[in-house]
Amino acid sequence: MRSPADRLELFAPLSGVLVPLESVPDPVFAQKMVGDGISLDPTSGDLLAPVAGTVTLLHQAHHALTITTEHGIEVLLHIGIDTGVLGGDGFRPKVSQGERVEIGQLLINFDVDPVARTARSLLTQILIANVERVARFVPATGIVVAGQSVVLTLELVPTWAADSTTASPLELTPTLISAVAGNDAAVEAAARHALTGDEVRLPNLSGLHARPAAVLVSAAKKFKSDVRLLRGADEANAKSVVALLGLGTRCGDVLRVSAVGPDASAAVQKVSALLAEGCGEQAGEALPPTAPLPALATSARALAGVSASPGLAVGRVIQYRHAAIEVAESAETPARERSKLDGALHDARGQIEALKGQFTDPAKVQILEAHQELLEDPDLVDLAIAGVNQGKSAGSAWRAAFSACANRLGALDNALLRERGNDIRDVGRRVLALLAGVSQAQIVVPEGSILIAEELTPSDTASLDRSRVLGFCTTTGGATSHVAILARSFGMPAVCGIDQAALALADGTLVVLDGSHGVLQHAPTEAEIAAAQQRVARQATRRREEMAGAASTAVTSDGQRIEVVANVRNAQDARAAVANGAEGVGLLRSEFLFDDRDTAPDEEEQAPAYTAVAEVLGRQRTLVVRTLDVGGDKPLPYLPLPREDNPFLGLRGVRVSLDQPAMFRTQLRAILRAAPLARLHIMFPMIALLEELREARAILAEEQVATGHHDVRVGVMIEVPSAAVMAEQFAREADFFSIGSNDLTQYTLAMDRGHARLARKADALHPAVLKMIALTCDGARRHGKWVGVCGGMASDAMAVPVLIGLGVEELSVSVPAIPAIKAQLKRLSLAECRQLAQEVLELGTAAEVRARLAVFAD
Ligand code: PEP
Ligand code: MG
Repeated sequence: MRSPADRLELFAPLSGVLVPLESVPDPVFAQKMVGDGISLDPTSGDLLAPVAGTVTLLHQAHHALTITTEHGIEVLLHIGIDTGVLGGDGFRPKVSQGERVEIGQLLINFDVDPVARTARSLLTQILIANVERVARFVPATGIVVAGQSVVLTLELVPTWAADSTTASPLELTPTLISAVAGNDAAVEAAARHALTGDEVRLPNLSGLHARPAAVLVSAAKKFKSDVRLLRGADEANAKSVVALLGLGTRCGDVLRVSAVGPDASAAVQKVSALLAEGCGEQAGEALPPTAPLPALATSARALAGVSASPGLAVGRVIQYRHAAIEVAESAETPARERSKLDGALHDARGQIEALKGQFTDPAKVQILEAHQELLEDPDLVDLAIAGVNQGKSAGSAWRAAFSACANRLGALDNALLRERGNDIRDVGRRVLALLAGVSQAQIVVPEGSILIAEELTPSDTASLDRSRVLGFCTTTGGATSHVAILARSFGMPAVCGIDQAALALADGTLVVLDGSHGVLQHAPTEAEIAAAQQRVARQATRRREEMAGAASTAVTSDGQRIEVVANVRNAQDARAAVANGAEGVGLLRSEFLFDDRDTAPDEEEQAPAYTAVAEVLGRQRTLVVRTLDVGGDKPLPYLPLPREDNPFLGLRGVRVSLDQPAMFRTQLRAILRAAPLARLHIMFPMIALLEELREARAILAEEQVATGHHDVRVGVMIEVPSAAVMAEQFAREADFFSIGSNDLTQYTLAMDRGHARLARKADALHPAVLKMIALTCDGARRHGKWVGVCGGMASDAMAVPVLIGLGVEELSVSVPAIPAIKAQLKRLSLAECRQLAQEVLELGTAAEVRARLAVFAD
């Protein structure tokens, strides 16, 4: 057991939503140059102490302070990004340096709206500056309440171990110096003498605030010497951000660098030069212009929440509440009640199936599929059956069961799981309505409505009439809820976790909803409405332009054509893809034909599905069909595969097809029937060995001879490191590669792609994954073969420049993403992307890559 002295919990200094540090749009924080911790998107303006300790630094601009705990942990709180430039405007400190503070004590009050308007971002960083004192950081996620929720738990390095690693450079004794520098007498002699550089006048407009300080520290740390920054009689350790901030430098201050140690001369030179250059900031210039928030977000009539779906809308409030569903409490026999329950569960499944048919967007379909699974969840259903067996009516047993399950999730400390509670309630109400014999009415509202509700279920959201509902706010939920995902896929602005005061707005109140900034403005002035309407019009124009340009091919500004195709599951998806500008299908996931049945589909059942997609595309467009990708983690009931200890490393992907040649041949014959209708490509998933490709190709060749369909290209999915590393050999024998970046990330980083706790680390933009992609492209290029990407990263605008810079020529993306990705490609220059790709390949972490890409995208 760890003693409490080895753990430290940090409480939320502000209310808001937690954001991983890696996502902060400032490399200094994202790359953890100032320290490690977490960021918070605030909805309140009272900064509270997350820990007890002493305020060891209050920045002169009052936007940052450091609390040092009794165990010596330095907790740096930095409100917003580039807020130092405000020179203290809008910040009111409530404590002074040297003061002892308790958890939850008010530290700084700041004006959320004006600060948000002027600063680049309000994201507030909670950082541990002396990271060497922390063995493990355990960040929380989701929405947090100031002073109540824990945002970060630290497992501390035991004091005895920390003491041996934290000797201050100032305290370097000659013995220590020689231990560091070697025993050379000359080095040791030099090490004892301080070298001081020339005077440097600080060019940074806001002094050495967090960002330039971090740049300076990272340069100083490259030297063994003790490096100090001097200003008159003041001095600070140049290897400590906290110390540099504490110096409280201002633009124009005269500084000198001093160093003691074996490489003192080089340190003084390098650090002085960096200081003179502005430590990465443009000397003497203002910091980059900020993207101001619209005026509406700054008004006192603005209610704040969390951005769930971006976009802006001007409309009138309609309050929406779920009607209670009454069910019969008196029960017939348990057998009779059980049969009512089974019937309702069956009908609910049918309703969801019908709803699924209305959507082509895979995100929506997946949410509905998750709901279908809930209807079969043993925990939930068994609980209801137990109630029925105890004599309850089907309705009351079901209500008790789903409420218990939803409440259990709702009480968890994990925002994602809490939001799944909403899904259970949604499915629960659907079944309950069937048991009660009432229909779940569609939400009927007038045109131009902005819906306000405590909670909307995914079904409510999916059935919103988008010609009438312009956007919505809920007091519950967050950005990861299914409701938010649905809103994003509709392109409908939405704010979750909105201030409860929104529930009191009268129907018909005129409001401006800003989904991007998570704000609802009520009773706006005419000027505010006009400004918002102009922005709505601009956004609509951009979307229209993207749509209008979607039909033309994507060519970079320097002439490189990139094919943009779609990931689909059926002909309906393919039609939506073509309407959105897809030049073909880069991935037809065929396994959906094989799921949810008792026997494998035969050739006659499969062929129409493939030919229907091919007919939508026609001879001018590419159709890439992936052969069955199941097994291991995705078993089929009718496949006699053994239980495996490591299913992701077992019989999966093409290995299943080769293990079941009859089923494989049937599928190949069915696919080949689409050959006359489109430019048919067939690719094999999860190829790891050249022998697998050869064996699969040989079987395909035999079926081609048998069917007479020879006009087919054959590709390899690059999803396993061995295939990427051996790309050159594979390229000799394949016509094309398609990178399955979801699996390639999983297998390169050895992180289960579905693992909730690893999800943030399993980043396709990790340099190791990018190197695999680079190897794939290099191998293909040597044999004149093309490379596409069909995993999720192809739809990620941040990844697109790197992918094409590495040599990817085809992006197979989700259907809604097609117009925006095409528009983005047209703005890019291949030459710049190539340079960018080479740069990021040299970086060490995914966070560093993301930070660099964020700067590129600016
Ligand atoms: C991938 O792994 O990136 C891929 C496209 O295949 P799936 O996600 O279907 O495994
Ligand atoms: Mg895959």
